[in-house]
Amino acid sequence: VRNYNPPPMAPLSAAAGEPGTARIQALPDLLINQIAAGEVVDRPASALKEMLENSIDAGTRNIEVELLAGGIKLIRVTDDGNGIERDDLTLALARHATSKIATLDDLESVRSLGFRGEALASIAAVSDLTLTSRRARAAHAWQVAAANGLLGELTPAPLGGGTRVEVRDLYHSTPARRKFLRSEATEFGHCDEVFKRIALSHPHIGMRLQHNGRAQRHFPPQEPSARIGAVLGEAFANDSLPVHWDIEGLRLTGAIGKPGASRGDREHQYLFVNGRFVRDKVIAHAVKEAYRDVLHHDRHPAYVLFLEVPPERVDVNVHPSKSEVRFRDGQAIHQFVLHALGRVLAQTRPGNAPVAPAHAAQAPATAGAVPAAFYERYSAPPLQQTRMALEDSATRFYDTLFARREPAAVDIEPGPALPPAAEQPLGYAIGQLRGIYVLAQNSQGLIIVDMHAAHERIVYEKLKQAMDRQSMPTQQLLIPATFLASALEQSTCAEHDGLLRQIGFELGALGPNTLVVRAVPAMLGDANIVELARAVLHEVAQYGGTEVLRAHRDRLLATMACHGAVRANRMLTLAEMNALLREMELTERADQCNHGRPTWTQITLPDLDRMFLRGQ
Ligand code: ADP
Ligand code: MG
Repeated sequence: VRNYNPPPMAPLSAAAGEPGTARIQALPDLLINQIAAGEVVDRPASALKEMLENSIDAGTRNIEVELLAGGIKLIRVTDDGNGIERDDLTLALARHATSKIATLDDLESVRSLGFRGEALASIAAVSDLTLTSRRARAAHAWQVAAANGLLGELTPAPLGGGTRVEVRDLYHSTPARRKFLRSEATEFGHCDEVFKRIALSHPHIGMRLQHNGRAQRHFPPQEPSARIGAVLGEAFANDSLPVHWDIEGLRLTGAIGKPGASRGDREHQYLFVNGRFVRDKVIAHAVKEAYRDVLHHDRHPAYVLFLEVPPERVDVNVHPSKSEVRFRDGQAIHQFVLHALGRVLAQTRPGNAPVAPAHAAQAPATAGAVPAAFYERYSAPPLQQTRMALEDSATRFYDTLFARREPAAVDIEPGPALPPAAEQPLGYAIGQLRGIYVLAQNSQGLIIVDMHAAHERIVYEKLKQAMDRQSMPTQQLLIPATFLASALEQSTCAEHDGLLRQIGFELGALGPNTLVVRAVPAMLGDANIVELARAVLHEVAQYGGTEVLRAHRDRLLATMACHGAVRANRMLTLAEMNALLREMELTERADQCNHGRPTWTQITLPDLDRMFLRGQ
């Protein structure tokens, strides 16, 4: 070992306190706890979170929370859990004292929400805390109070079985911290959010919340799905898809918002890992990826997801507030979540959804004074009643054509009555509006379809399937299309011939500055061939050969789909319109176009009645 002589240092500032000259000393416990409090309890809501988690770890069935002044004046949590032994009461307030782990092995397989043994000590260091608890067989409860970190005497107290923790005047002794607290309303908002998170992840626990003496929330013990509805409201419950996915020790449950019900903000995004609310980049990214195909880029999905991971595959001890986790195999978790949500979102097609997408015309909350009998007229077998004979035969024709019956059953004469076919979710076309929208009717009322957007999604999904099968059906052009090509277009064409064939194109040089298109993917036959070829060459040139298929495949296919989809102002026949509706019903993710905009909407008869004030 060599002696190391430090180079002469510039003298430290010799201002007040002479920082360079002070000796090292161990900090007093109270100060240690006050420093730690800055991390664990930065505001009333974080103290509340720790207290609620303790109640849950104690196996409580019911929790009552009372707050005064946003929790700044008082946070009182009462539970009916296991309680604390008389002799452990003062220890519960000591730093690094916990009943939840004893060894490093315990830490690695921890299932309780707490384990660091520092929450109560930290809170007690910056407030007046009273802890009252009673074990099941004890004659009465015991109480200990701590003010400014000084412990009082143990005294007997009244309380049913369980524990009550009262935290008064948070940060009154540390004014510098207190300055960071916001208005009562804001602090209450944070407390409410914490309460909601705990309520979502523990539906079987009954929970009450009071603020300034007024009841704010009350959740009875519930099933998980009912609790989600109770916490996030009926709108989310109605516009979400249930998630339940299980493999190899991983489980994902909960509910995710339908793409049509997306939001402009990131509220209503709840992720729980092993029952703990966390923010996690890996999973947030997987969710975003899952929605990429169906959500406009500046919209955010709402979700409540519960991920269960074997404890040894996740480290929860990353941050004092335990709001972050680290997965041992982030890649696998990412794939798992992406796949699970991808499967759920693939179901968003008309007819799979029990209700029309949320972008449907917003009806007023109350139906107005419309007598029930008025609606019955519409809702009892409506198609049969409102159709004239002529319409009826046309309908039967489509029924036969598209309901996949035997071709022999095609019968366009108004012959003997056929049994009514099961209703098609998107109904039957009645016309086209200004070359942009297809109008259709089903038993609920009017359906409006954005023709281009819907067709684009159908073509896109077909292209993806063809690529997955590695067999893109191509169509030779009767008259090859030629165009004057730039140098870049020509070199891209020459360089990436293999790739272009893979995606269904036959392109070649014809003279010095001319390219010729001989074949295109069959489903894009109606596109403007030159524009399509140019767009594809442009995409391929941008990312290069294999890279474009690896990382930008869907983007490339989306470009192709956009060119292949029917353009505005294309007049469609009724048969073509109906074919489009039937295709939409069979296409995954058909409720949104490739850019996440809705493809269709429903205006129900009651909606129309309200518009015309009928029956009011
Ligand atoms: P941790 O939860 O990390 O163990 P805390 O400081 O939050 O640390 O709590 C210290 C100990 O006090 C816990 O380990 C537990 O034994 C006890 N405790 C705290 N709150 C309750 C409660 N509501 N019911 C029963 N025991 C409790
Ligand atoms: Mg705790």
